[in-house]
Amino acid sequence: MSDIRLENLTKRFGSFTAIENMNLHIRDGEFLALLGPSGCGKSTTMNIIAGMEKPTEGKVHFGDREVSRVPMGKRGVGFVFQNYAIFTHMTVRQNLEYGLRMNGLPAEERKRKANEMASFMELTSMLEKPTAGLSVNILQRIAIGRSAVLEPAIFLLDEPLSNVDAAFRSVMRYELKQLQRRFKQTMVYVTHDQLEAMTMADRIAVMDQGVLQQIGTPLEVYNNPANVFVANFIGAPGMNLLEGSLVSEGDRLFVNFAELQQKIELPESLATATQAVKSRDVVFGFRPEEVELDTQPGGLTLPATFLERIGARTILHLGKDVCEVKAVFENDVEVMLDSQVAFRPAMGSERLFEAASGKRIS
Ligand code: ATP
Repeated sequence: MSDIRLENLTKRFGSFTAIENMNLHIRDGEFLALLGPSGCGKSTTMNIIAGMEKPTEGKVHFGDREVSRVPMGKRGVGFVFQNYAIFTHMTVRQNLEYGLRMNGLPAEERKRKANEMASFMELTSMLEKPTAGLSVNILQRIAIGRSAVLEPAIFLLDEPLSNVDAAFRSVMRYELKQLQRRFKQTMVYVTHDQLEAMTMADRIAVMDQGVLQQIGTPLEVYNNPANVFVANFIGAPGMNLLEGSLVSEGDRLFVNFAELQQKIELPESLATATQAVKSRDVVFGFRPEEVELDTQPGGLTLPATFLERIGARTILHLGKDVCEVKAVFENDVEVMLDSQVAFRPAMGSERLFEAASGKRIS
């Protein structure tokens, strides 16, 4: 079994807490993305899984085996970093065979495995070339191949695509997923890029300030964010989040936006959910992809401030500062800048969060 369990994991550097009481179960054969902004503790978590750092408190298990204090070399994990650490005085083949040679594999077996990996990573034509002078894209491909050829049951990748160019990144996203399908490793992939996480991962663990915020499939974290942080971090652009307060009128419940002097009615399911909440201060959320332009009464109205056209896709910016809303359309929209635009979240797409804690109300 190559599942990974982090149990009450805490890491402090002096008085600074980089990871706080983290519990995470990464399933055998799963592709898990550790996602969060810079400094949130992703690499520290990864280094603890790899054995490069020791936890201050808590345990790491690989299957039934506790490995918290086992050194990196004895954990049997493959690790690829942001900065490809390949040997530039060797050829591509020598790099691919390096670990196999260290493991004492006979020459024929090394050759066969390196050829197979080269073919998989599209390196066959350059196998006998020296690595010095090869492009960053190719060097990172070699670094991934060199680790993957050892067929580790656990494969850790820390921002492996952040130094390569955008076109190559998209190719590699596909290839890494293929690699994992083929070798069925448990793969942990650190990234700050939600698109990478959303496109590749079976599940995403979202972190902020050393705390695990949510773990779920890409669709779960997109559709049902546990809190305001996840709602904002997932999606491009992130979820629209407007601060307001709950007000009742008869048996109807509204969110009132004081700054806008407008209010919007909550659907019954959300109105019911608010009964368990003490404070009336909330954050009202809806995805930019779920905005409908609508002149019927009952929605909100804001001025059009900016139109971003990205190919066929259009991002319409409405209002600004704390009252800014973005709306994404797959086609062009006919809206005049500075005109007042009436809109509403599509039915059922409304999300509500407690203002004080940021937690989802559902
Ligand atoms: P990035 O993508 O920028 O590397 P990250 O999410 O991977 O971000 P970490 O590298 O895990 O973040 O760092 C988490 C926090 O711990 C940061 O504030 C970092 O400065 C701090 N930190 C990491 N390693 C050490 C160390 N050896 N000594 C002191 N502080 C550290």
